[in-house]
Amino acid sequence: MIVIGGGLAGLSAGVALAEAGWRVRLFEQRPFLGGRATSYVLPDGEHVDNCQHVTLKCCTNLEDFYRRVGSAGKIKFFGRLLFQDPQGRTGEMQAGLLPAPFHMFGSFATFAPLTLADKYCIGRAMMDILRSKGKPRDLEEAGGISMLEWLRRRRQTPGAMERFWKVVLVSALDEELDRTDARYGVDVFWKGFLCNHTGYRMGVPGVPLAQLYDGCKAEIERRGGEVNLRSPLRAIHLAGGLVNGVEFDGGRQETADAYLFALPHGALSELLTEEIKLLEPSLANLDNIRVAPITGVHFWFDREVMREPFVTLLEATTQWIFNKTALYGNANGSSGDKGQYLQLVISASYDLLQKPRQEIIDLCLAEVRHAVPAAREAVLIKATVIKEAAATFSPQPGVDRWRPMQETSIRGMFLAGDWTATGWPATMEGAVRSGYLAAEAILRVAGTPRKFLQPDLPPDGLVRMFS
Ligand SMILES: Cc1cc2nc3c(=O)[nH]c(=O)nc-3n(C[C@H](O)[C@H](O)[C@H](O)COP(=O)(O)OP(=O)(O)OC[C@H]3O[C@@H](n4cnc5c(N)ncnc54)[C@H](O)[C@@H]3O)c2cc1C
Repeated sequence: MIVIGGGLAGLSAGVALAEAGWRVRLFEQRPFLGGRATSYVLPDGEHVDNCQHVTLKCCTNLEDFYRRVGSAGKIKFFGRLLFQDPQGRTGEMQAGLLPAPFHMFGSFATFAPLTLADKYCIGRAMMDILRSKGKPRDLEEAGGISMLEWLRRRRQTPGAMERFWKVVLVSALDEELDRTDARYGVDVFWKGFLCNHTGYRMGVPGVPLAQLYDGCKAEIERRGGEVNLRSPLRAIHLAGGLVNGVEFDGGRQETADAYLFALPHGALSELLTEEIKLLEPSLANLDNIRVAPITGVHFWFDREVMREPFVTLLEATTQWIFNKTALYGNANGSSGDKGQYLQLVISASYDLLQKPRQEIIDLCLAEVRHAVPAAREAVLIKATVIKEAAATFSPQPGVDRWRPMQETSIRGMFLAGDWTATGWPATMEGAVRSGYLAAEAILRVAGTPRKFLQPDLPPDGLVRMFS
């Protein structure tokens, strides 16, 4: 079995197939594993995540994957999400004693950045999601409708739009509301906030991302397989309607019983021949899947400036501030014992793509100093900006029609990647789901079916009673 691509999709499929007794040979073009969800060392010696990555408790397959590779203990879960507006008012989202779907009622009622009118219209929209069990009727309209349109139909106030819907959804889906299919937006609230009282709990790695994959190579090798780094795929060869080999640098050819292409859709598209697109027409449409950017800004201060593990800023360019020093258990990396390392995240950062790095640093530093008073006195020792222009696929209305299944009509050719048909947006959970679905498809075709896909969190509390 050959797997191309060492991101979460390729790794989860590789580990699952190794467990099922297959000899997995994984090829990754970069010198490290993890794909977009990884970390590396900067030229100045600093270990940084490609960007801060977070998960939610409702991401059951990612959690299962971390468990399989011995990394589940490296994720810290938090039940309190903190928000702060430019006026310094704060609000929390935290489950209280009431059962789902009312578990957030207490913190929502006292959420200072929202007015009573904002809360009333948000509550009405939530009831609509709840009554329809996450499937309001207008989501089924041909071609899909945007989240903005869905919210307009439910007459949301400007405050509710700016300080609630946009804040949660741009971070979760990496796209503006007018370019987001309402199906994805509604799903975030149904799975994350309404149907189960733990679904919203946020998991943040307590180690640099690459360390989460330490167990993958060992697991694949333990079953006789291998992980080949610095091995970019250059060509896919077909004969008689089936894949009969793949080619790497120097004309090196490799063959296997089955091939799993777990590449980003743009990278795969460049390797597809006309013959492949003719045999599997869904692959002719990959260029219709658009991409969206995320920008990460890393600040190292000479002293501690914040205690909270993370905070979300409202109505600012900076959406999240993560306290990496606290999340890593007070290890400060190379910036000295008393310093503090913060990582800022800006999703759907279209406006920043063309901006010079120094301008982004100045803008974000001013926002951090406004939001975190202790940062005003602190000295910024160094800063770096990581722009990912193609961070995720854009969840545009109707995008699902361009997402291919994991099993293709070309014998021996399977697909995985967050962009394949999983029903999930571009997330680590979506990538692992695609990997598990691909592994299931391979075993099904081989005549040895096995299940890897994990069920969603079950509805609980009153949602369960009325489901
Ligand atoms: C900045 C940023 C922030 C994000 N934040 C979050 C978050 O907080 N939570 C969340 O759930 N998700 C987040 N995501 C999305 C998440 O990272 C992705 O959805 C997920 O990692 C995709 O995994 P994948 O395996 O499908 O693709 P990838 O991770 O892209 O893996 C594909 C692999 O294929 C390799 N490859 C490409 N071409 C070749 C070739 N020719 N030969 C061999 N190998 C090749 C690549 O090097 C890569 O390792 C974020 C993404 C980015 C970029």
